[in-house]
Amino acid sequence: MKMGDMISDKMLAPCGVNCLFCSAHLSKKNACPGCRVPEELITRKSCRNCKKKQCVLDKGLHWCFQCSEFPCAKIVGLNKRYIKNYDINLIQNGLDANKDMDLFLQTQKNIFTCKKCSGIIDQHYKKCSDCGRSFE
Ligand SMILES: [Zn+2]
Repeated sequence: MKMGDMISDKMLAPCGVNCLFCSAHLSKKNACPGCRVPEELITRKSCRNCKKKQCVLDKGLHWCFQCSEFPCAKIVGLNKRYIKNYDINLIQNGLDANKDMDLFLQTQKNIFTCKKCSGIIDQHYKKCSDCGRSFE
């Protein structure tokens, strides 16, 4: 999948993971539409019935990073996994997004665009979803 001109905050999940760069979304078959669709359309089991998403909705917010309790234990736990497995710091991302969403999305776009083909880089496998190039 090629990177679009603009990337939307609509694909930024409540927890701060960007669904646009998610392996489940970039999957060639049965691609997940992202975390903000009805539960039954979400393909990844771990993203269904998400407690973080429910918490965000219960508080009438859009993202965890807008919450006065951010970063709470739920996000700290997820972030540990994201730093360890994917080298992505969701708490720092949340702070950046909260400060300046447009700048944050532009920076994300630069990081996750394949320099060779302008494809979207899969943040979980660190691989271009279009030309297959590896970015380890
Ligand atoms: Zn590529």
